Amino acid sequence: MSDVLTLIEQPDSKLVADLHPSPNIEPRLRGLTPSILILHYTGLECVERSLDVLSRPDCKVSCHYVIDEDGRIIQMVAEEMRAWHAGVSSWHAETDINSSSIGIEIQNPGHNGGYPDFPPEQMRAVTALCQDIIARHGIAAERVLAHSDVAPGRKIDPGEKFDWPGLARAGVGHWVEPMAVDPGDRGFSGRKQGPEILAAQELLARYGYGIEPTGIYSERMKTVLSAFQLHFRPARVDGRLDLSTFATLRRLVETLPEAATS
Ligand SMILES: [Zn+2]
Repeated sequence: MSDVLTLIEQPDSKLVADLHPSPNIEPRLRGLTPSILILHYTGLECVERSLDVLSRPDCKVSCHYVIDEDGRIIQMVAEEMRAWHAGVSSWHAETDINSSSIGIEIQNPGHNGGYPDFPPEQMRAVTALCQDIIARHGIAAERVLAHSDVAPGRKIDPGEKFDWPGLARAGVGHWVEPMAVDPGDRGFSGRKQGPEILAAQELLARYGYGIEPTGIYSERMKTVLSAFQLHFRPARVDGRLDLSTFATLRRLVETLPEAATS
């Protein structure tokens, strides 16, 4: 059916420097419109390779925007179309994240490529593009997410080095200052089950993570806690329910807009 789909011809944002159309697109399903913004790293060695992979029909992946290390913004898919960046994923009850999101791929070779810092000029472009997309689509702060948030265990991008607090200072995303990590804090990690485990699972699920509150510290809980830490408590990513993780999670849920008004 790709013959009926139109490749991008006009950028959606004035911040776009170049177009590199990807044919890996389809209409958004069930009439969904963008209400989530997903940030990724490319995990590939250079932007040329990323653009190639994200536009080759046999690769079956794509995204709306790529941001190079120098801050250059390239649009590949029109925002009205469904791009293929999230894969198997979920947030709250939604499992078709591709239909309900816009995806930005940030050029960085990732953990398997030495995981260099995100340069300041690149982060300035990320910030500006996020602000632009959020304003045009009315995307809520708590719906600006990492790929790892919607696909725990399967994805770890953009990773623990990503400057979420800097984005939050610019009005992008939901953030609370993480509680300091005490090296001796083993928290509740030694327990297989208990009220603290259940409470943390309920908080994770309420925030949007794909986890069933069972009260049992399972492999899945370790995976989801690691995803939470990658985004919100990056000082130690180990999947343990320590006191810092628990307190940061609680504070995050307490500061959700709907929690503040209820
Ligand atoms: Zn990703």
